Amino acid sequence: MTERELFFRHIAQTSPSPPALEISHAAGCYIYDKSGRHYIDLIGGISVANVGHGHPEVLEALRRQSEAYLHVMVYGEFVESPQVQYAKLLTEHLPEHLNCVYFTNSGAEATEGALKLAKRYTGRSRILCFERSYHGSTHGALSLMGDEYWRNAFRPLLPDVWHLKYNDITALDEVDEYTACVVAETVQAESGILAPEKEWLKKLRKKCYETGALLILDEIQSGFGRTGKLWAFEHFDITPDILLLGKALGGGLPLGAFLSDKKIMNSLSENPVLGHITTFGGHPLCCATGMAAFLALKNHAYMEQVKQKEQLFHQYLKHPEIRKINSFGLWMAVEFDSPEKCRKIIHYCYQNGVITDWFLFRPECMRISPPLIIEEDQIRMACDRILKSLEEALSSQM
Ligand code: PLP
Repeated sequence: MTERELFFRHIAQTSPSPPALEISHAAGCYIYDKSGRHYIDLIGGISVANVGHGHPEVLEALRRQSEAYLHVMVYGEFVESPQVQYAKLLTEHLPEHLNCVYFTNSGAEATEGALKLAKRYTGRSRILCFERSYHGSTHGALSLMGDEYWRNAFRPLLPDVWHLKYNDITALDEVDEYTACVVAETVQAESGILAPEKEWLKKLRKKCYETGALLILDEIQSGFGRTGKLWAFEHFDITPDILLLGKALGGGLPLGAFLSDKKIMNSLSENPVLGHITTFGGHPLCCATGMAAFLALKNHAYMEQVKQKEQLFHQYLKHPEIRKINSFGLWMAVEFDSPEKCRKIIHYCYQNGVITDWFLFRPECMRISPPLIIEEDQIRMACDRILKSLEEALSSQM
């Protein structure tokens, strides 16, 4: 059997027709398949590879830590330098009240931990979240998913979870003294890069202060320079009570985190003790690579060029079939007039050496969230290939 056949036989599939690219290796903004073809990676593993694939400083950190130790103890019991140093570094780049980090295995686990923390700290049960939001695929996180189509098959889900309209002023009336937390993506990813009004987010922040509800901002996709600032909330002049991180946090290895003030976080260590338990959360390898990626992001000033590179995509991606491009930094949704057309174009993009994707709640939009290190000539080449794919899709009978 070929490896491709083994893949379809033994690896669980999450969609009926995965692209099944046979990966050989990846470097910078390129992924190479086993036939030697290269692909420009326009999605970076869905906002993971912000400093590109195989960044030498990340690989060096991986090597060094792997020679020291791998897993030694369940989370939070021993002093492990990679965790401690990374937590220190992260909190130095955050507002003062986000001074305590709980590292997890994934973004979804960060969401789960944060929901439990909010319930435990406030003594309340109500969770407010938003339509067209995505916070992970485990049962608690799935309960927050902002579309009934994606939730319904898995009921019963968490009780007392209410979905409000994002960016809608009247929705804020629902935040009250029974609310444990309001969970929002600072910029909604899966609804096609939808940024809220600054005033709306500020009013949401104020309402949470007034009612004692905790504001949880999910920056699992938007964090680590994706929007041109380290954290997307910096664009809106607000700060959350709990911050969710993931994806680029691990520099290519699996890592998530929820962060809050130590005084809030302490409620997970008593009554009952071990309020959240994880064996591998904050794995030393993942913290070491995450920290190296974070330092690379800062030291090489990749973020500073995000806005300019965003404009290049707008400049090069012009075609009558493109209805609109929503973007917020190097994070964009290219809108076509139907999901079928978008699907076809994505198919041809793969044929032409570009890796891209669609959005959960906007299947008519194509995703662009490349490594932030992408260069101008690579942007130009990627856009040329997309436009070629578009033409081929239009003239095909597929
Ligand atoms: N929150 C957002 C905004 C995400 O985009 C994702 C993943 O796509 C998650 C949470 C869940 O993260 P993970 O897939 O690591 O569980």
